[in-house]
Amino acid sequence: MNDSLSDLALRVLHNRTQVQPVDESLSVSRRFFNDGERAVLYEIAEGLCTECGVALPDGWHADHLIPHVRGGLTLIDNGQALCPPCNLRKGAR
Ligand SMILES: [Zn+2]
Repeated sequence: MNDSLSDLALRVLHNRTQVQPVDESLSVSRRFFNDGERAVLYEIAEGLCTECGVALPDGWHADHLIPHVRGGLTLIDNGQALCPPCNLRKGAR
């Protein structure tokens, strides 16, 4: 009886630790810019690709200046608006 109770307690604790990473989607460690941040980046870029100056099409890319994989944070300060071709070229580097 006591054993099954502590088993249950352990499972509850385990579930709690699994739930925590959900907060990551709200933090700067997440991978993608949200809609609000994209809107700001678009304004800063004046609707033009930061790299080549072409008018940003639908589906333009919010890019990390310091790549996310190298620890770059998902912040406006570390973001730039790129057209898809420029972003793909950058990714190929
Ligand atoms: Zn471009």
